[in-house]
Amino acid sequence: MEKKLFNIKGMRCAGCAAGVERAVKRIPGVSEVCVSIASNTMTLNLAPGGASVEEILEAVRKAGFEAEAVSGTASGRVVESEEGTRAYFFRFAVALVFSLLLCYAAMHDLLKLPYFPISHGANAWIQLGLTLPVLAAGWHFYRSGYRALARLAPNMDSLIALCTTAALVYSLFRMAEGHTEHLYFDSAGMILSLIMLGKYLESQSRRRASGAIRELMDLAPATATLVVDGSEKEVPAADLKVGDRIRVRPGGKVPVDGVIVEGVASVDESMLTGEPIPVDKGVGDSVTGGSINRDGTFLFQAGEVGENTALGRIIALIREAQGTRPPIARLADLVSGYFVWGVITIAVLTFLAWFVSGSGFAEALGFSLSVLVVACPCALGLATPIALIAGIGRGAGLGILVKNGSALETAASLRTVVLDKTGTVTTGRPEVASVTLADPEGNETDLLRIAASAEKNSEHPLAGAIVREAEKRNLALFPVTSFRAIAGSGVSCRADGRRILVGKAALMKENGVDCSGLQAGGAASNSLVYAAVDGRLTGVIGIADAVKPDSAEAIRRLREMGLRTVMLTGDNAVAANAIASPLGFDEVCAELLPAGKTEMIQRLQKEGPVAMVGDGINDAPALAQADVGIAIGSGTDVAVESADMVLMHSSLTDVPAAIALSRATLRIIRENLCWAFFYNLICIPLAAGVFYAFGGFRLTPVACAAAMAFSSISVVLNALRLRNFRP
Ligand code: ADP
Ligand code: MG
Repeated sequence: MEKKLFNIKGMRCAGCAAGVERAVKRIPGVSEVCVSIASNTMTLNLAPGGASVEEILEAVRKAGFEAEAVSGTASGRVVESEEGTRAYFFRFAVALVFSLLLCYAAMHDLLKLPYFPISHGANAWIQLGLTLPVLAAGWHFYRSGYRALARLAPNMDSLIALCTTAALVYSLFRMAEGHTEHLYFDSAGMILSLIMLGKYLESQSRRRASGAIRELMDLAPATATLVVDGSEKEVPAADLKVGDRIRVRPGGKVPVDGVIVEGVASVDESMLTGEPIPVDKGVGDSVTGGSINRDGTFLFQAGEVGENTALGRIIALIREAQGTRPPIARLADLVSGYFVWGVITIAVLTFLAWFVSGSGFAEALGFSLSVLVVACPCALGLATPIALIAGIGRGAGLGILVKNGSALETAASLRTVVLDKTGTVTTGRPEVASVTLADPEGNETDLLRIAASAEKNSEHPLAGAIVREAEKRNLALFPVTSFRAIAGSGVSCRADGRRILVGKAALMKENGVDCSGLQAGGAASNSLVYAAVDGRLTGVIGIADAVKPDSAEAIRRLREMGLRTVMLTGDNAVAANAIASPLGFDEVCAELLPAGKTEMIQRLQKEGPVAMVGDGINDAPALAQADVGIAIGSGTDVAVESADMVLMHSSLTDVPAAIALSRATLRIIRENLCWAFFYNLICIPLAAGVFYAFGGFRLTPVACAAAMAFSSISVVLNALRLRNFRP
């Protein structure tokens, strides 16, 4: 399966998005199609050997839109281009000027306004003339609206086009009959202007909502200093290739990922890791695109370029996430697919009802025009995606990467948060704190030498601590044979002609080594690693792994948010409790084998949705099992497959922050959906004159246009509040 991202041009409302989705879904080999009206993108899964990208583009074209495949982050068009916004404004300005003149002309007789130079009889012609520039400015509504109608997939523009066309045609008929009053030219002009104003404001706010991606893109410099055969040349960063040698000067930004081949520097990587202190780097160290060279000059060789860099992957991930749709949007998506047809039907019925019940043609038409223009599929279609764009974008700014909208929705309704001990609650940089010998006459150096020789081959953090300690003491290690790692327990091997077993107490017991009599020195929170040689216990190494400074704060906040907190670990119960109790965990589960962690999560899931927070490397099954898998502290490794969220900074307080952000986003989505549903539910009958019929008030077509513009802007503005979210 290959994930693909496309930019789609020409979509106006959720109905359009549904149309594109329907067309593309039909192509064989394509699955999980998701079209976002807010980001104008489409993501899908493409099976190998299935359809080609060309076929997909063709299908979108047939549905009436334009698509382009996005490859390389730089080329990705972000939501609304600046020119797009400016064009909206220009059109609106033209429409407004002529509409105001139109209104003046139309009201002139009625209000006895002064300064009208032209004779009464010519007024209607003047109005018609003033309407033409407005129509020209709003021409795109007609093109898109009628095209969509011809395809039997009417959209938002179809409503505007139908409404204003009806107004114009009616006015022309009246003119033909020689009337100069009750023309609808000014209404048509004002409706178009107001809707253009709405579109302009909306596109501007959309740009702001999606600012996060632009900010990330701006982290990487646009140009780089390429070094070829000793001479330097400025080239666009987008042209860099793997293997290129690039020079970075003090204060300069690293354009792509790579490895230093010459020079030293201290590099600020805070945008990825949240670590404010610059890291010293020299030959052989890797550098990441977007980081800043504080001092020193270095030459590095590009290892990853374009969208394969860490930054590129983050951007791709966010764009993709912003285009997904959480389950909460399902009803709105369903409704907006039929919405426009429904509105057209209601408009026709409204006209008939008023006309049949004896109102004049003009009045009946007025009501049905109101219906066409007041209905706002935009608010409905934008309600969810615009909040996701703002929420996921804000998360990216805080170092919280949300991989999809469903995860965000689930995270808002969590019951339990499970945290892994090593590397999550603790720093994951363990150190040997005590060495206790089984035989008091024995040799400490010998014990460490044996243990380190065995652990040299292990990936486990505890193993690393033992090996580092041996290195610190300059101990020569034995070569080992028949090495075996026992996941979640320890290691065994042969070295120096002896059989060596290193690991936890349970492992010793299984192998017939009795270690109950040995009391380790040092703190109770130390992890204990026992070592046995030829079936006899030689000693135990106590390893301390400091609790992260903000773990206590994080647990306190999670509990304040009404969440149950559980710590999981494969470590022994004494150490686990010594760490967990002062932090205030509700529950501690220790001495778990890797499979036991998954089972524990399944058990907790019976009480409600569970989030699992782990380092994403050895906790993958548990992360995948949880309703929301949160991988922590993986600054450059964003491709953590099994996680739904990735916390780039290693601070545990980002966990409550991520959950709070999810809750805030969901709240905005709910508000937006409610607003959009109720707006249409109330305004459509109001526009149809239902209240007027019973003595209440009515909405004129122009007031309806204002209401419609206001309602679609208001969902965007509401979503923008997430830009200021503080955890
Ligand atoms: P966790 O990551 O939750 O601490 P693991 O499943 O990785 O737990 O390991 C559980 C326990 O098994 C460790 O606390 C340690 O006691 C023991 N263990 C696992 N691998 C090793 C190893 N290579 N060397 C020593 N002890 C190990
Ligand atoms: Mg672990």
